[in-house]
Amino acid sequence: MRPMFLAIALCLGLLWTSILAPAAEPLPLHAVKPLQALIVDGQNNHGCWPKTTPMMKQYLEDTGLFTVDVVTHAPKGEDPDFKPDFKNYAVVVSNFGHGAAPWPAETRAAFEEYVKGGGGFVAVHAADNSFPDWPAYNEMIGLGGWGGRNEKSGPYVYYTDDGKLVRDTAAGAGGSHGPQTEFAIIVRDTAHPVTKGVPATWMHAKDELYDSLRGPAEHMQVLATAYCPKTKRHEPMIMTIDYGKGRVFHTPMGHETYSMECVGFINTLQRGAEWAATGKVSVPVAADFPTADKASSRISGK
Ligand SMILES: [Zn+2]
Repeated sequence: MRPMFLAIALCLGLLWTSILAPAAEPLPLHAVKPLQALIVDGQNNHGCWPKTTPMMKQYLEDTGLFTVDVVTHAPKGEDPDFKPDFKNYAVVVSNFGHGAAPWPAETRAAFEEYVKGGGGFVAVHAADNSFPDWPAYNEMIGLGGWGGRNEKSGPYVYYTDDGKLVRDTAAGAGGSHGPQTEFAIIVRDTAHPVTKGVPATWMHAKDELYDSLRGPAEHMQVLATAYCPKTKRHEPMIMTIDYGKGRVFHTPMGHETYSMECVGFINTLQRGAEWAATGKVSVPVAADFPTADKASSRISGK
């Protein structure tokens, strides 16, 4: 065969192969390594949010599992340009707070579709104050506080002293906290991937102990609680929620930078984010995890 014909034949062959060969299916996002995480922030009644977002970004990256992007909403009012491309991420972490303006309708719909379709979501501290009027969001977080939440939002959920999980439909406001203090976290589910191997009781660094949260609390598991002297109830401190095919990790801890320096907060955030992203946990329990008697913090310098 003359060289020219050979070249043409080769080209045709390659073209034929590329037409016939099926395009490789993109990997599902939970299988893409490193895992792609997104922190969203921009409106939070906690003035420390510009410090706590980089802290959480660092915590996730420290695992070696995640790369983290941040998308920040306009500081005031509604932001028509707030349109993160959720579907590019294995997990989304909210560092929004009380009084955050509603996201654009298109963004809310995209977020619902993202989580329902199998995306991971992590709600931290005042993220459970956000969006009291967004039903799907309240289903995702399970329990929320403030913003007019009351018995119409769903039950209070807590453990009694004798270890019974109660869904209490009594009338009353949702969301409260006492003065900041160190408090003990009690693990209620030692088999869940997030809490497996974590000390059964551990001292959390100074924080607000959120009490009296209320919400739909459907498909929700309470993994850990803290005893609240004010309500005399054991209030949920780590929750997981199934929303469609998606997984949600909710920690009401994390009021201030020093609260987020608690190794218990750091390590459960890392493990919870991995679980929300993949359904599994490979992040080991930290060697410096707090114990029943002693809080343990890593000073961030923030
Ligand atoms: Zn707070």
